[in-house]
Amino acid sequence: MPKFFIKTYGCQMNERDSEQVAHSLITRGYERVESETQADVVLLNTCSVRDMADQKALGKMGMLGRMAKDRPHVVFGFLGCMAQARGESLLKNLPHLDLVVGTQKFHRVADYVEELVIRKREVAARIADPGHRRMDDLRFSTGPDYFGVVDVEREFGSQETIREQTLAPKQATAFVSIMQGCNMHCTFCIVPQTRGAERSRSIAEIVSEVQALVAHGVKEVTLLGQIVNLYGRLEFPKVDNKSAFVQLLGAVHEIDGLERLRFTSPHPIGFRDDLIDAFGRLPKLAEHIHLPLQSGSNRILRAMHRAYTAEKYVDLVRQIRKARQGVAITTDIIVGFPGETDDDYEQTRALVDEVQFDNAFVFRYSPRRDTPAAEMDEQIDESVKEKRNQDLLEVVNDTVRRSHERLVGQEVEVLCEGPSKTNSARLMGRTRTNKIVVFEGSDEFVGELVDLKIERANGFSLYGRSCTLSEVHSPLSAPQKISSLSVRQE
Ligand code: SF4
Repeated sequence: MPKFFIKTYGCQMNERDSEQVAHSLITRGYERVESETQADVVLLNTCSVRDMADQKALGKMGMLGRMAKDRPHVVFGFLGCMAQARGESLLKNLPHLDLVVGTQKFHRVADYVEELVIRKREVAARIADPGHRRMDDLRFSTGPDYFGVVDVEREFGSQETIREQTLAPKQATAFVSIMQGCNMHCTFCIVPQTRGAERSRSIAEIVSEVQALVAHGVKEVTLLGQIVNLYGRLEFPKVDNKSAFVQLLGAVHEIDGLERLRFTSPHPIGFRDDLIDAFGRLPKLAEHIHLPLQSGSNRILRAMHRAYTAEKYVDLVRQIRKARQGVAITTDIIVGFPGETDDDYEQTRALVDEVQFDNAFVFRYSPRRDTPAAEMDEQIDESVKEKRNQDLLEVVNDTVRRSHERLVGQEVEVLCEGPSKTNSARLMGRTRTNKIVVFEGSDEFVGELVDLKIERANGFSLYGRSCTLSEVHSPLSAPQKISSLSVRQE
């Protein structure tokens, strides 16, 4: 059977979509390989959130053109957000590209691939024939539609199709896609165009997917949505003043054998009292929230169409920290949004310093086609963006370093995910606060909750020593563990 390689750019939702595609190919007998050089099918699942992500995927596919010449039977495909945004135009500049599939059609990829594998084998056989030496000649002689399959249509119910994945042995964590799309229309963001409008799966479907994952040994799930805390607001009514998202958290929390529950990414809008309360009463909710700030200037937040103020954001962080001691808060920040003055930037810097995030992803504003911000006057010079980016990173890095140093000597519970990416002789796991800890240990730790003592913090890396495999991890035991994880107090 053919071998496939899939490379994912961008966010965790893309990772999850890729796993769905991989699962659908594996169930048809295809073998997954770790390098494009061994593959008969090469798929790039793309991201469009910043121009650099677009360019990376385009550059990679361009380079694969060389492989297409040597191995004409190989099927090449673009999937995901950039495929959705650029559609058929991608085929024009990349003659070896066979497949362009958008964000609502991941479940169709296996069908298209099967068809293309057969076609490309025929092509390869014909190219081997001295009468048709060049693949480009063959393409044009058979008409422009001969290879290219493009499917970027909308599909009703597509949010229900990301629900299967092939689990690795002892896999302890998994992503679960609970909704698709976004209705917020932040002025810098291309997501509403690439992912469509908000559509949510039902609570029953999601619970049954998590139950199946837990039955296979998964101990931690991360619920994924573009604005995850607005899950179900269009489809499901509030019950007892609880939003559909909080109802979903409650239902997933009930699943026996699930140890940790995460979600990403919420919007400060919609992070209401019922969700804050959930952190006080659902101990499986892990102590980490990624809460995008984007800017600390109210003027810029308004221009971004982020419907909160810097003061409201800070107050929300305060309430969350009050509801759950030791919760780690990370964020996304854009510097150099059109019209951002030195004063606006200083407000962002001051807010970052005040909140003391556990980590922050700082991005230079990148204009995206057909978004309102791309058309705004006062675009900021790249050198200014770069300066602000570096400056803010220094503030963030300082905070992260100090918070890691405070962890030294503490006992933490990690969920061991497997070998460390930087040194496969060691293991890595994540704390409940989502910090990665590297430690020595044998295979028996993989997939298990492990108590570690943090011995060393080396810049951004934490190193620990195992105490023992954790014995009791009932929900009722979690709060005691949580209190021992409190690493940064106001
Ligand atoms: S909330 Fe804003 S930034 Fe987030 S996906 Fe929606 S439009 Fe984009």
